[in-house]
Amino acid sequence: LAEKMKKSPAEVIKKLMMLGVLATINQEIDADTATILAQELGFEVEVKVEQDVEALFMQEPEDDPADLQPRPCVVTVMGHVDHGKTSLLDAIRETNVTATEAGGITQHIGAYQVEHNNKKITFLDTPGHEAFTAMRARGARVTDIAILVVAADDGVMPQTVEAINHAKAAGVPIIVAINKIDRPDANPDRVKQQLTEYGLVAEEWGGDTVMVPVSARTRQGLEDLLEMILLVAEMQELKANPNRPARGTVIEAELDKGRGPVATVLVQNGTLSVGDNLVAGTTWARVRAMMDYKGRRVKKAGPSTPVEVLGFSEVPQAGDQFFVVPDEKTARQIAEKRANRKREEEFKAAMPRVSLDALFNQIKEGQVKELRVIIKADVQGSAEALKQALERLSTEEVKVNIIHQGVGAITETDIMLASASNAIIIGFNVRPDVNARRVAEKEKVDIRLYRVIYDAIEDVKAAMSGLLEPEY
Ligand code: GDP
Repeated sequence: LAEKMKKSPAEVIKKLMMLGVLATINQEIDADTATILAQELGFEVEVKVEQDVEALFMQEPEDDPADLQPRPCVVTVMGHVDHGKTSLLDAIRETNVTATEAGGITQHIGAYQVEHNNKKITFLDTPGHEAFTAMRARGARVTDIAILVVAADDGVMPQTVEAINHAKAAGVPIIVAINKIDRPDANPDRVKQQLTEYGLVAEEWGGDTVMVPVSARTRQGLEDLLEMILLVAEMQELKANPNRPARGTVIEAELDKGRGPVATVLVQNGTLSVGDNLVAGTTWARVRAMMDYKGRRVKKAGPSTPVEVLGFSEVPQAGDQFFVVPDEKTARQIAEKRANRKREEEFKAAMPRVSLDALFNQIKEGQVKELRVIIKADVQGSAEALKQALERLSTEEVKVNIIHQGVGAITETDIMLASASNAIIIGFNVRPDVNARRVAEKEKVDIRLYRVIYDAIEDVKAAMSGLLEPEY
């Protein structure tokens, strides 16, 4: 700012002080402060805000209620292992999908739809509250109704309770499917009784939880279950606006040998079309082709429709939320920005002070007699100064050994050297390049970055003195 105004930094800092702001020469000040400051010094200020494209598309514009149309509900099946979740999903799919269409082959794409009374229901095909909560942990809210499967012969079990808690935590209404009622030892009333302990009271007992006796084996009660799902869905008044760019969630994704990255996405609002560009997590796609759960090619997918999408740059993650952007360049740009940010975060997380600490623990236990260090700095003079200062920290017990010093960014070779030699890397005014970060993460090499030599010395000194046995 001082340069721009052709003033000396001292003059600017002094003015700031008079305005009650204590700042150093390289400190950032906010736009408001800069405006006041510049005006004080007789300048006119124009604040230019850099547009954040990501933020622009991330926030969902409110839909006009007039544009909203009813959408199918999305259902997840949960419950204890072996209570029949998979059997139930299969039975519903077979009864309502394949049978109605001669020769129709269902594809496993992670979700499917059935039609009942001319209304659609979308079933997520990965049963269990683990998948449900993993998605939720990633911010995805896809399920409108949870079907809690409880085997009538087995009753409420630990995972039944977990499923109840997960659904409740998400605020998703529960419909209980009391399964295996074909079994001679089936006791639906006992299930209902047990469920009251968890706040689920059957309607016929004066509560408000819908409970349907079913058998995935004999297919008894399946129509009732679908009927009840539609009823509960109706009360939720689920709506979306099909006439806008799509957004939704990745349900599953994999790398297909022939087709490349493939993802099943659930469109939650808007309509996804072939040719659209989208961002999903840290990946992007230009939608090359879409297939429905029957494996048929489709050109468009509206709200609550699951489709398999081809054209992703990389395999996205289940739970990634996607949104359509106007062009490929924007999609790529946002995805890359996010990928970089993620790498940085992962890098930070993978680089706790563990390594240095671990090393000093070994020193403490007498297993290690020297601390090996690699120094990388922006200029030779700094590297040399740091080297000398660190070497001076050597004690009788522990020697500080600078095994390598150099000028420039921290590279993959530095990491490999550190890994092979059990050394830490100290970077002074330099950073690891992308490759180095990746390898460091894998090799669990401790990289410590400093801008002040004194800080580097203090850290090493503190670790050494703090962890070494006191001398008597
Ligand atoms: P999941 O672990 O909850 O997905 O349970 P599965 O669908 O794998 O079913 C577990 C076992 O229960 C399998 O051997 C099924 O054949 C059986 N099973 C599922 N539903 C029924 C049912 O309605 N009646 C009977 N008798 N057995 C069932």
